[in-house]
Amino acid sequence: MKHAKKRVKYPQIRGFIITLFLGILLIIAAFVSNQFPDEVNNLIEENLNIPTNSSNMISVNTVGNTVVSADSKLQIYYFDVGQADSALVIADGQTMLIDAGNNEDGPLLVNYISSLGISKIDYLVGTHPHEDHIGGLDDIIYNFEIGKIYMPDATTTTATFQSVLEAISARGLSITRCEVGNTFGLGDGICTIMSVENEEQSNLNLNSIVIHMVYGEKTFLFMGDAEKDNEDKFSWPDVDVLKVGHHGSDTSTSEKFLSSVKPETAIISVGMHNTYSHPSAEIIKRISDSGAKIYRTDENGTILLTSDGKTYNVQTFATALDGNPSTADKTGTTTEE
Ligand SMILES: [Zn+2]
Repeated sequence: MKHAKKRVKYPQIRGFIITLFLGILLIIAAFVSNQFPDEVNNLIEENLNIPTNSSNMISVNTVGNTVVSADSKLQIYYFDVGQADSALVIADGQTMLIDAGNNEDGPLLVNYISSLGISKIDYLVGTHPHEDHIGGLDDIIYNFEIGKIYMPDATTTTATFQSVLEAISARGLSITRCEVGNTFGLGDGICTIMSVENEEQSNLNLNSIVIHMVYGEKTFLFMGDAEKDNEDKFSWPDVDVLKVGHHGSDTSTSEKFLSSVKPETAIISVGMHNTYSHPSAEIIKRISDSGAKIYRTDENGTILLTSDGKTYNVQTFATALDGNPSTADKTGTTTEE
């Protein structure tokens, strides 16, 4: 009987130990499968900089001395391109580049935007065919995957304009024309064409594509080089941030327009000691008297606005596009409700 008992007892203990062992193995396996792959992924992202998606990459990127917060769903770079214009809007990983500076800014913009982990420009806007706006467009077109290209139906005889058309053709792309009132989504943002002339004007500034963007509770207006004639044709909504028309020239930003738009923040893209005497002292006073805070690329360098759709933060850092100190001499940061 003793032998019989032992024969019964041992298999029970052995069975219990095996079950316990398998149970522990299962718990360890479950723990490892939950934890380990994420750790590996994080290591890959951090050490090798391989983004799982573009918004992920942007949120961890360091730009100059500025770290972009992961909470910032919207980032707008108002680039310091001297006496020219270029603004990059990144909304939830989608991108829109409005103008690309002068010809010599093209390679610098390609490097800078690439360094943000961006490989695609979803919307490329050439507001009007002046060199200080379309100069670098050809480099952008050759170096990035491009979604839609918006340009007004206006031409000019310059080599710069020809090189943009050649780049578009070489990449098998085409220009999409837009009309006032057209809308498109950029991430969670909604962009509306507020002004565009598709009949060629003797003054090409009047052809400028003007874009209004709503992002959460915040609103933005990008004026290109639109002038008073354009401003007078429409009724304008109140906006939080105005990218001032025509480099702060007195051809634009009329009293009537400004009193409609009532910006909290005004941004002027302008070169130091430029030959056009931009921005106009009268316009600076007008904007300042309206209560808006003014940022200028000649004084502040590249300006970075970040937002979660409820508040926005403006950072300035006095580095040029190539990472060297720019002629701008001020840095700072402010938060606006
Ligand atoms: Zn211009």
